Amino acid sequence: MDFEFSEEEKLLKEDIHEFLAKKLRPIMKNIDQEEKIPRDFVREAGKMGIWGTIFSKDVGGLQLPMTSAVVIAEELGWADFSLATGVMYVLEEGWGYVLDKLGNNDLRQEVLPKVIEGEHFLGVASTEPTGGSDVASIRTQAIREGDHYVISGQKVYISGALEAKEWGGGHLVLTKTNPKEKHKGISIIYVPATLDNVRVSKINNMGRMGISTAIVSYDNVEVPLRNLVGEENRGFYHAMEGFNHARVLVAGICLGAARAILDQGIEYIKNREAFGQKLKDFQAIAFEASELYTRLEMARLLTYKAAWAIDKGLRDAHIIVAMAKLTSPQTALDIAKSVMMWMGGYGYSKDAMIEAGFRGIVSYLVGAEGAMNIMKLIISRGILG
Ligand SMILES: Cc1cc2nc3c(=O)[nH]c(=O)nc-3n(C[C@H](O)[C@H](O)[C@H](O)COP(=O)(O)OP(=O)(O)OC[C@H]3O[C@@H](n4cnc5c(N)ncnc54)[C@H](O)[C@@H]3O)c2cc1C
Repeated sequence: MDFEFSEEEKLLKEDIHEFLAKKLRPIMKNIDQEEKIPRDFVREAGKMGIWGTIFSKDVGGLQLPMTSAVVIAEELGWADFSLATGVMYVLEEGWGYVLDKLGNNDLRQEVLPKVIEGEHFLGVASTEPTGGSDVASIRTQAIREGDHYVISGQKVYISGALEAKEWGGGHLVLTKTNPKEKHKGISIIYVPATLDNVRVSKINNMGRMGISTAIVSYDNVEVPLRNLVGEENRGFYHAMEGFNHARVLVAGICLGAARAILDQGIEYIKNREAFGQKLKDFQAIAFEASELYTRLEMARLLTYKAAWAIDKGLRDAHIIVAMAKLTSPQTALDIAKSVMMWMGGYGYSKDAMIEAGFRGIVSYLVGAEGAMNIMKLIISRGILG
C-alpha cells in the first residue's frame, strides 16, 4: 500500500495548481457575478490539457487514470470554489468517458476533440420534470425512422445547456427506445444542443452561477442513428458508468473547495483577535479546526480510493464511489459553515466569497449527479444485498 502520489501525479498537481492559481483563482469572483466562465479561460485551459484528460489518445486525450483526473478536479475546486468550473470538468470528463468508450468512431472524432480544445460543451440530460432519482421512469422517447431517431421529451436542471447552445456541443440524452420497459428500455443518444428543435430555458439557481442549468425541450428532434452511444436499450447500464465517473470527480472538486475554504479560515483564526488573544487560541475553535482537518483527510482518502477502485476495475467500485460522493460534499459544506462562523460578519459578506462556495457545494447535496439518499441506497444495497 502506498499513500503517496506518483512522480507524474506530483508534477501534474504542481503544474495544474500553478496554472489555475494564476488564471482561474483571480477570476473566480467574476465568474460568480457575471454568471459565465470566460471562453478565453476555457480555451487556454484546453491548451493546458485540462479537458478530456481521461479520453483516448486517438481523439486527442491524455488517457490518464481516474486518480489523475481527481488530482485535476481537486485543483479546479480549489481555484474556483464556487464550483462552476469544476462542474464543467465533472460533466465533460465523466460523460465524455462514456462517449469515448461506447460511441461510434465518427461521432467520437466529431465531438471529443472539440471538447478537449474547450470549443464545445458536453453534458448529460437524464432528469425529467417527473423526477430524477428514479432514472428508469423517464418518458423522453426516441423513435427509429429510417436512418435517424426522432426524439421528443423534456429534461430539467440540465447543466451547461446554454453553453452547449452558444458554444456548440450537446448532451448525452437518456431516452426510452422501448417504452414498454423500464430501465431495460433506455438508450443514450448524443443530441447537439444547436439543433433548431432543441429549446433551452434557463433556471435561476442559487449557486455555481458560472455554469447554466436549464429546462431542455426536444420537439421531434432528428439525429442520425450513429448518435446512439452504446447499445440500444442498454443505456441505463451505460449511464451508471457515467455516473460513477462523474461522482468521483464531484467528490474531487468538493475536496478542492473544502481545502480552499479551510485554508482561508485557518489564516483568519491565526490573525483575528478577540478578548486579547488570537481566535486559534480558543480551544473551542482549535478543536473544531482539528475535527474539520481530520474529516477533510478522511474524505480525501475515500475519494482517491474510489478513483483507484475505478482504475483497478473493482466490482464494488460503485459502492466506494457512492461513499465518496456521500462524504466529500457534506464535509465541504460543514467546513464552509464553520469557516463562515469563525469569520463572523466578514464570513457572511460577498467579499469573503465563502458564501459562493457554500452555494455551489449545496448543489451536490441536493441532487446533482445523484441525491444523498441515492448514495445511501447504493451503499445499503451493496452491504445488505
Ligand atoms: C444544480 C443542479 C444541476 C443538475 N444538473 C443536471 C444535469 O446536468 N443533468 C441531469 O440529468 N440532471 C441534473 N440535475 C438533476 C439531478 O440529477 C436531480 O436533481 C437528482 O437526480 C434528484 O432528482 P429530483 O430533483 O427530481 O428529486 P427526486 O428524485 O424527486 O428526489 C427528491 C428527494 O427524495 C429523495 N428520494 C428519492 N428517491 C428516494 C429513495 N428511493 N429513497 C430515499 N429517498 C429518496 C431524494 O434523495 C431527494 O431528497 C441537476 C440538479 C441540480 C440541483
